[in-house]
Amino acid sequence: MQGVVIMRNKCRRKCPKCDRFFTADRYNKHHQKYCTYPDCVLERARERKRKWYSECCREDPAFREKEHRRCQQGMARIRAQKKQAKMVSVPILPEPAVRHVLTGLIAQLSNCSDPQLLREQFNRYADQGQQLSVLLSFFFSLPTVFFLCY
Ligand SMILES: [Zn+2]
Repeated sequence: MQGVVIMRNKCRRKCPKCDRFFTADRYNKHHQKYCTYPDCVLERARERKRKWYSECCREDPAFREKEHRRCQQGMARIRAQKKQAKMVSVPILPEPAVRHVLTGLIAQLSNCSDPQLLREQFNRYADQGQQLSVLLSFFFSLPTVFFLCY
């Protein structure tokens, strides 16, 4: 039993990168320095690639120029996509459509279909909304924020 534990410990070592214990491959134990945990392997590969990339950028002006152009094009593409998304995501409804939608919502909320009562309810909500937006604009104004922060 004691011998088995000793045999097992021969191949056990600590990974210098992630400090975890691992069992080295028995056919490659002379060379294997690092573990084979996927996250550690990935991190080491990233580090290696980062090092290679920075060396290439430092020593090869053509590579640096090419990468600079590639990054500029990528950023321009991302900016264009964001601009496009903004344009698509903010639908501007025409005024009558907004009124119809609000009237429909209020009718459903108050369970009422009488036009006179709906108009009164609509005006009440409009007054309430106006008061709230005045309060909110006061609350979010810059001096108030400074006042609240300090
Ligand atoms: Zn490791």
